Amino acid sequence: MVSKNLTIKEAHQGLIKKEFSAVELCKFYLERIGEKDKTIQAFLTVSQDLALSQAKKVDEMILAGKKIPLLAGIPAAIKDNILVEDVKCTAGSKILENYLAPYDATVIKKLKDQKAVILGKTNLDEFAMGSSTENSAFFPTKNPLDLTRVPGGSSGGSAAAVAANECIFALGSDTGGSIRLPASFCGVVGLKPTYGAVSRYGLIAFASSLDQIGPITKTVEDCKIVFDAIKGKDSLDSTSVETPKIKNWKLKIEDLRIGIPKEYFVKGIDPEVEKIIKKAIKKYEEMGMIVEEVSLPHTEYALPVYYIINPSEASANLARYDGIKYGYSAKKTRDLMEVYLKSRGEGFGQEVRRRIMLGTYALSAGYYEAYYLRAQKVRTLVKNDFEKVFKKVDALLTPVSPFLPFKIGERIEDPLSMYLVDVYTVSVNLVGLPALSIPCGKVASHHFKEKLSKQNRTKETKNSEMQNGGELSVGLQIIGKPFEEEKILKIAQIMQKN
Ligand code: GLN
Repeated sequence: MVSKNLTIKEAHQGLIKKEFSAVELCKFYLERIGEKDKTIQAFLTVSQDLALSQAKKVDEMILAGKKIPLLAGIPAAIKDNILVEDVKCTAGSKILENYLAPYDATVIKKLKDQKAVILGKTNLDEFAMGSSTENSAFFPTKNPLDLTRVPGGSSGGSAAAVAANECIFALGSDTGGSIRLPASFCGVVGLKPTYGAVSRYGLIAFASSLDQIGPITKTVEDCKIVFDAIKGKDSLDSTSVETPKIKNWKLKIEDLRIGIPKEYFVKGIDPEVEKIIKKAIKKYEEMGMIVEEVSLPHTEYALPVYYIINPSEASANLARYDGIKYGYSAKKTRDLMEVYLKSRGEGFGQEVRRRIMLGTYALSAGYYEAYYLRAQKVRTLVKNDFEKVFKKVDALLTPVSPFLPFKIGERIEDPLSMYLVDVYTVSVNLVGLPALSIPCGKVASHHFKEKLSKQNRTKETKNSEMQNGGELSVGLQIIGKPFEEEKILKIAQIMQKN
């Protein structure tokens, strides 16, 4: 019998012991999507035929007595900015609404080599720009833990699909927190790998010096399985490298040194979040890890630097959507210039246009030195901070976000308040480090029910609270040294077991 909480290994065991077939497993998840996704709205496309044909092939292998890879037959959901051949890839944008992917991204090729089953493509903020999935041109995704709240973004569809058991694992992308934030808000595990650890070939480019693809899963063990499957050097992405083995590394809890950056616990953090994170840190300390306060003095500059570099790179990457090469093309135009202008004006949403304008400004002659170049220099200072503390400690622990999952509509009208959600995640991308989010506590329902009572509680609000016990999840961020994913995964595993 297929049950909804299967991990990768459990599903694998079920398949090889013939407790269920890959087609049965696939149908179970397709039915779950049919049932749950009317309310969650995690998926933009369900690739039912592809999924069933992939599952059938796995059953044939099993029937023929062949050994199957760990991911064979495992149902997965893919963020809709990662190309899957012959499946629509919209990047959450009207400009790519009818775009069919002409080839597989390298990560998809790797999943297909392992015979994973692709259930469909998940919702995201348009071109991955956002922290709530509300910037999707199609619809906002709901947080499965409380349907009135955002799932985080931009990989909100992927995290919600995992949390609502609409798939066993998902892929997301992280440019400034887009795997870790939704993982934290939805109570699942999300890993942003070291820059270069996973090929970006076939990922729709957002900000190329920051983008990375990574797994979103229910458990740390699953996260490691998926990361191992997708990582590695790829001749189609010149920034990709092989993950080197960590030298002399044996996990002895008492030998682990953990740093707590003091700049991450300042005013502005939700006291409930702070309480839960500090409790998690204490737990590690009680287990024997050496926990010490450290300083990353340039932390306050990371967010402004990110919001110069990110739009600059985005404005260059998005120049290709011109209404001619591919994607949406405006009708009733008189000349080429009007095709460009109207297609981009009509095809891009508000946040994307905002980033293009910010980026174009920061890169323009006369302003380049004052903004982009200056930001790159400060980026080096942020990097130096991390290099210094990583001489002393193995990993850093911080919150993923200073805020609890917020209400749909709460921040969307105010871009600055939305950008603030990313304050603890963007440094990691600027420096290229690996980091993951692991659930470390829940906020009891009474906390936010009090807050809610001031607002207008609709019937839907009350229902969703009852349905889910009204508990919100808080994610702990574990930041590691470059290419030390294995170490931060082990540290996360300790948290999950205790
Ligand atoms: N919220 C951040 C932004 O809007 C991060 C996005 C991401 O990681 N894709 O840029």
